[in-house]
Amino acid sequence: MNNVEIIELAHQNLINTYGCAPIAFVRGTGAYLYDADGNRYLDFFCGLAVTSLGHGYPRVVRAIRDQAEKLTHVSNVFHTEPTARLAARLCAAFGDGRVFLANSGAEANEAAIKLARRWGHDRGEGRYGIISTQGSFHGRTLGTLSATGQEKYHVGFQPLVPGFRQVPFDDVEALRAAVQSDTVAIMLEPIQGEGGVVMPRPDYLKRVRELCDRENLLLILDEVQTGIGRTGKLFCWQHCGVKPDIMTLAKALGGGLPIGAMVARSDIALSLTPGSHGSTFGGNPVACAAALGVLDALENDAVMENATAIGEHLINRLREFARGSSKVVEVRGQGMIIGVVMRDEARSVAEACLNERLIVNATAEKVLRLLPPLTLTREEADAGLAIIERALKGAA
Ligand code: PLP
Repeated sequence: MNNVEIIELAHQNLINTYGCAPIAFVRGTGAYLYDADGNRYLDFFCGLAVTSLGHGYPRVVRAIRDQAEKLTHVSNVFHTEPTARLAARLCAAFGDGRVFLANSGAEANEAAIKLARRWGHDRGEGRYGIISTQGSFHGRTLGTLSATGQEKYHVGFQPLVPGFRQVPFDDVEALRAAVQSDTVAIMLEPIQGEGGVVMPRPDYLKRVRELCDRENLLLILDEVQTGIGRTGKLFCWQHCGVKPDIMTLAKALGGGLPIGAMVARSDIALSLTPGSHGSTFGGNPVACAAALGVLDALENDAVMENATAIGEHLINRLREFARGSSKVVEVRGQGMIIGVVMRDEARSVAEACLNERLIVNATAEKVLRLLPPLTLTREEADAGLAIIERALKGAA
C-alpha cells in the first residue's frame, strides 16, 4: 500500500483521537524512517521518546526475534525467564526494590498510585491523597489523568478520581503548604516532558525528598519519559542522587515494544499482595526480552555517553542560534530531551521541519521538543540542526 491508501484506510476506521500527520511509515533504520512512498525522514522524535536506540537496533531485534520464536505469552499465572531476568535487572539498577510489570506509562503510574494508596491503607492512617504538579503529564487512564496537572486533558471526563491536588512545579513551599493529614505521596516528573521540557532548579528534588521524609510521604518519580538513558543517565534522578520510593518507567524500556514498570522500595512493595493488582500482558516475555536488549545496549555500547555528548552539542548550537534570534526565548534540556521555547506557537516550526523531512514535536503550545535517538551521530545532529535553524528563521 502507498501513503495515500494507508492513510485513507486509517481515517475510515480508527477513532479520531490523534492529530495524525499524513505520513505512513513502513520501515526504519538507526535515526531514519522511511514512508510508504520511499521518502526518508530524520527522526528527532523516536515515537515519543520510545525508540531511543534508533530503529532496528541489532541487540533489540535479535532479542525480540529469538524470544518470539521460543514463547510469546503464558500470563502471570506462570514464570518466564525474560520476565524474571528483567525484574532482577531493574531491581539491581534501582537498588533494594521490587518490580511490577505493566504495558504502558499510564499503567505503571496507575500501579504506583494504587501502591501508594494501599501503603497508606495498610498503615491504618486513612491516608490516600497524592499531590502532583501543574503542567505534569502522567497518562490517560482516569487515575493518571487525575494526577495530570493539565486541565485541557480533563475536559469532558469529570468527575475525576478524588484524592489528587496539584501545585506549581519547582515550588517546594507550595508542596509543603498542600500537605494535609490525608496526604500519602508526592508524584513528580524529574523534568516535565509533555509539559514543555520544564527543568526544576537543581536542589528541587533534594528538597522534595526532605519534605517527604519529614512528613512520612512517599516520593513517586515518573521517569516514563526521562528514564532509560534519555537524560544521559539510566534514571534522571541519578543526576542529583535523590532516590524515590517508587519510580515508574515505560516508553524507551521496551525498545519499541509496549512495556511499563513500577519499581518500588522493597518494604513498600509488600503492600501489594496476591490478587491486589495485575495485568494479563504485564511482563510479557517478548517485551521483557526486548527490554533486556535495551539495557544490554545501555550498559555495553556507550549509548548514554553519546547521548550526553551529542545532547550537549545540540543544546549549545541551539543556544548559539537563540542568541541571534528574536523568536527563541530559551533552550533547555538534558541529554537527549531538549526544548526550544518559542516566543509564539511552535507547531508551525515543527511542520516546517517535517516538510524538510525532519521529525520533531511541538508541545505545551510554544515548545519545540527534540527527542532524538541516544545513538544519534554528530553528522545526523548537524543535519537536523540545519533544518531546525532554517525552520526557526522562517517562523512568523
Ligand atoms: N508519564 C509521562 C512522564 C509521560 O510522558 C507519558 C506519556 O507521554 C506517560 C506517563 C503516559 O505513558 P503512556 O502513553 O505509555 O501511557
